[in-house]
Amino acid sequence: MSYAKMSKLFVRTLRQDPADAEVPSHRWLVRAGYIRRAAPGVYTWLPLGLRVLARVEAIIREEMEAIGAQEVHFPALLPREPYEQTNRWTEYGPNLFRLKDRKGQDMLLGPTHEEMFTLLVKDLYSSYKDLPVILYQIQTKYRDEARPRAGVLRGREFIMKDSYSFDIDDEGLEVNYVKHRQAYQRIMDRLGLDYVIVKAMSGAMGGSRSEEFLALSDNGEDTFVRSPGGYAANVEAVSVGAVAPGDPTSFPPARTVSTPGAGTIATLVEAVNQSAPRTDRAWEASDTLKNVVFMRVAADGKRSPLIIGLPGDRDVDEKRLEAALSPDQAEPFTDEDFVSFPDLVKGYIGPVSFSGEPTALLGADRPAGVTYLTDPRVVTGTSWVSGANVVDTHVVNLVMGRDFTSDGVIDVAEIRPGDPAPDGSGPLSLARGVEMGHIFQLGRKYAEALGLKVLDAQGKLVTVTMGSYGIGVTRAVAMVAEATCDEKGLAWPRNLAPYDVIIVIAGKDPAMVDAADRLATDLELEGLEVVVDDRAVSPGVKFADAEIIGFPTSVIVGRGLKDGVVEVRDRLSGESSSVPLAEAVGAVLRLGQSDPVEDLA
Ligand code: ATP
Ligand code: MG
Repeated sequence: MSYAKMSKLFVRTLRQDPADAEVPSHRWLVRAGYIRRAAPGVYTWLPLGLRVLARVEAIIREEMEAIGAQEVHFPALLPREPYEQTNRWTEYGPNLFRLKDRKGQDMLLGPTHEEMFTLLVKDLYSSYKDLPVILYQIQTKYRDEARPRAGVLRGREFIMKDSYSFDIDDEGLEVNYVKHRQAYQRIMDRLGLDYVIVKAMSGAMGGSRSEEFLALSDNGEDTFVRSPGGYAANVEAVSVGAVAPGDPTSFPPARTVSTPGAGTIATLVEAVNQSAPRTDRAWEASDTLKNVVFMRVAADGKRSPLIIGLPGDRDVDEKRLEAALSPDQAEPFTDEDFVSFPDLVKGYIGPVSFSGEPTALLGADRPAGVTYLTDPRVVTGTSWVSGANVVDTHVVNLVMGRDFTSDGVIDVAEIRPGDPAPDGSGPLSLARGVEMGHIFQLGRKYAEALGLKVLDAQGKLVTVTMGSYGIGVTRAVAMVAEATCDEKGLAWPRNLAPYDVIIVIAGKDPAMVDAADRLATDLELEGLEVVVDDRAVSPGVKFADAEIIGFPTSVIVGRGLKDGVVEVRDRLSGESSSVPLAEAVGAVLRLGQSDPVEDLA
C-alpha cells in the first residue's frame, strides 16, 4: 500500500471558470479536475471524479444489497423490438438515441431498462415460487435531452442505478416499494443531502403510486409544493380539487359585448366593467375564461389544435402541461396555424362562435380536429366572460353545461403560493429542488406488453406486477458538490471525498519530505487514503489546490517541523490547529470521527 503523490496524480486545476458553467458544482468540478466535457452533455471522468463516483456507487450498492436486491448488468446498446412492444420506441420521441447496425437493424442506446429486465425475468422464471425478486444495475444511460445543463447534473450520457421489483400481487409490490423508499432515504442521508419526498406524476407510463426524492436547491429544475399539514408534491402532480357543479339554468342569457382592442385579460376586465357592469360587484380576471391554443404534436408526428380553457387569472404552467400531455408535446400555435383554422380568431377565442347564429365552436360541434379541454374549476353551472370568436367582441354569462361543453378536463393551470392543498392540509408554499430519485409502482403494464406471466399456487397463469426505481449516480456527485462547495472550491463530506487527507509539504527541507512520508504511511495504516503534495511549486499554490479540490483534511508539514509540530486543517469548518508530529495521526482520525454524516452509515 502506498499513498498517492500530487506530482504524479493526473489532475490540473484551472484558474478560469469554464464558459458554459451556470451553477457552482459544474464550475468547481471542472476547475478542480474531476470532469472534462467531451461533447454537450457528455463528460469524461478523471481520477479524482472517478473516486467520488465509486464512493457514491458503494453507498448505493450497500443499501440495495441490504434490501436483498441482486446486481446485474445490461448492455447499453439494445435492440428495437422490446421497445416496440411497449410502444416506447415511438413514445420516447426525440429523447431516444436511435441507431442502425451494419445490416440496417434498428438499435437504441438505453434510456432506462424496464423492457430488458422484464424479458430477463420472463426468460428464466415461471413460478410464483420464484418471486419476489429485486434486480438492479448501475449503468450508463443515454437520453438526448433537449437542454443538457450544469455539467453532469443533466447529461445526455449519465449513470443511473435502476432497480426493478417483480411480485405476484399488489401487496408484494407495496412491500418492495416501501423497502426501496427506505433504502433511498438511507442513501440520501448518507449522501448528506437535504431532501423532500414528493408525490410524482405516474404519467404516461401507467401505474399508480409514485414518489420523487428532491434535493432542495434554488438552482433546481423541479418545483414542488408543500403544505403545513404534510402534503408534498411535484408541481406536475398536484391535482386541483374538483368544484361542485351548480345549476346552469340560474343565469341570465349569454350576450355579446363590444370590447374594441381588449385582447388581454386586463383590458377585457376593464372593458366589460365599462360596457356590461355587474350589479353585485365588479368583474374580475377570475370571471373570465381564458382560452389558450396550442398545437398538440403526437409522438408519431400527428398535429392537431388543442384549446385549453381556464380561469383568466391563471396561466398555463408549461411543466404541468408537458407532464399532462406526455408523450405528446405542445407547441405554440403560429399565425400560419390561425390561417389554417379561420374559426379561431386570435385574441378572441371562446367556446362558442357568435359570428352568426351562436354555434358551439368547441366541444360538441367543434371544427374537425380541434380538442377543447377545460380546467377543473370550469364545471357545469359556472358562468364566464369569454371570447366570441369575433374580432373586438366578447360574451358575458356564457354558462358551462348550458351554452358550451368541453371534451374533458385538463389540470395544467399554474399553482400559486397560498392555493389550498388538495387534501385540505392548508395553504401551499412553493420551493425548488433537483430530482435525485424516483420510485414508481409500474403495475402490470410492462409485464402485460411483454408477456411476463408465472404460474400461481393454483397452477393458473398470472401476470407479474412490477416496480421501477431509479437514482441518479452521476447527478448525485454533482448535487453533493453543489450542496457542499463554497467560494474557495469543493468541500467534500469525509465519506465521499476522493482522498481523506492531503499532506502538504510546505518547504524544501528534506526533513519535511521524510516526515510527510512517515505520516502518510501511518495514516494509510489506519485505513485512510492519502495524497502527498510533493510538487515543486509554492506552498500558496498547494494550499489553493487543496481547497479547490476539497480534501476534507490537510496536514501541513512546514516551518513548524523544526519545533516538532504540523498543522491540521479541516476544510469543512475552516479550523486549523498545531499538533505535535507524533499526535498528528490521532488528530486526523478525531476529525473523521466527528463527522455526523458518517455516523449515519
Ligand atoms: P428529470 O425529470 O430530471 O428529467 P426523469 O424523470 O427523466 O428526470 P427518471 O427517468 O425517473 O428521471 O430517472 C431516474 C433518475 O435518473 C432521476 O431521478 C435522476 O436522478 C436521474 N436522471 C434522469 N435524467 C438524468 C440526466 N439527464 N442526467 C443525469 N441524471 C439523470
Ligand atoms: Mg422522474
